[in-house]
Amino acid sequence: MAEYDIIVLGGGPAGLAATFYSLQAQLNVALVAPSLGGKVSYPFALRGLPAVEAVWGADLTQQFEAHVEAKLKAYFPQEAKQIQPRHGGGFQVMLDDTSLISAQTLIVCTGAHPQRLYVEGEMQYFGRGVSFSAISHAAFFRNRNVAVIGGERALPAVQKLSALAARVYFVIARTDDIKRSHLAEQVLRNPKVFLFQEWEVQGISGDEFVTSLDLVGVNGETRSLPVEGVFVEFGLLPNIELVRDLVALDEYGHIIVNQRNETNVPGLFAAGDVTNVHAEQVPVAIGEGVKAALSAWSYLAMRR
Ligand SMILES: Cc1cc2nc3c(=O)[nH]c(=O)nc-3n(C[C@H](O)[C@H](O)[C@H](O)COP(=O)(O)OP(=O)(O)OC[C@H]3O[C@@H](n4cnc5c(N)ncnc54)[C@H](O)[C@@H]3O)c2cc1C
Repeated sequence: MAEYDIIVLGGGPAGLAATFYSLQAQLNVALVAPSLGGKVSYPFALRGLPAVEAVWGADLTQQFEAHVEAKLKAYFPQEAKQIQPRHGGGFQVMLDDTSLISAQTLIVCTGAHPQRLYVEGEMQYFGRGVSFSAISHAAFFRNRNVAVIGGERALPAVQKLSALAARVYFVIARTDDIKRSHLAEQVLRNPKVFLFQEWEVQGISGDEFVTSLDLVGVNGETRSLPVEGVFVEFGLLPNIELVRDLVALDEYGHIIVNQRNETNVPGLFAAGDVTNVHAEQVPVAIGEGVKAALSAWSYLAMRR
């Protein structure tokens, strides 16, 4: 079985940065990822606003990718299926084709995916008014009307958008609720925020871009809110199937890491959207991937 110093799982900004730094440190590194690049291309356009590729850090991610492709000897273009801690330290990883590789350290950078609404228009208008990331796209909505769909986890998005947008319709589905936290009170006090609690989204309509959000209330009443943006803010779901029973997770399923990207399992590090680190953004994921590789290097150095 092939043995490495480090196995990196995931080929997005965090995984590529971790692999790049591991190569720079002359470590024997393997990268397991079905593809390279991760989620770094999100063209976004609105009426009167030409399409922008607003992802800071995409260039750097591509530079890492080119370097990794040129220098890395052990790239496995497939998914990891299972992680098994070894007696005496280190980990064994089973790949999609059932082959096994092992290493002293693991860096998990498997990312996260958005929770969808699954209504008509959601994917049709994705990038043309529909967004899953207020951190990334709020700035485009100055003086425009937007809707935010979600519960508790949508509050920061409503707060961010209400500072810029003309109106923010906050739609909370029937079954969801929000705690009466300080943030909730601050958000709901804002005269630009209009709460639609116990309303469900039926669809998102538009022409070239989003023009309205269609709702139905508990008594069957329907409403069509005039908006240019719809933020689906149920939170991102971390891709943690591999480590669910292995490491400590927070209440939303993120891998808990400390400031050195260590998990509660010695030798197992994690970085990027899959972790509990604040702000799902490409530059953050890059920095976290770098930190994880440096910490894995220190861990290995202490054992030599
Ligand atoms: C809709 C949307 C818009 C966004 N817009 C922006 C933006 O404008 N600006 C910005 O900075 N950020 C934006 N983000 C956030 C940004 O995409 C992420 O923060 C960043 O990509 C996280 O990098 P990552 O490496 O942690 O994960 P990802 O980029 O998700 O990469 C994860 C990698 O892990 C791989 N993987 C998954 N499971 C396995 C497995 N079992 N085995 C091996 N590999 C696996 C995947 O194939 C992928 O290569 C947006 C996110 C979303 C969802």
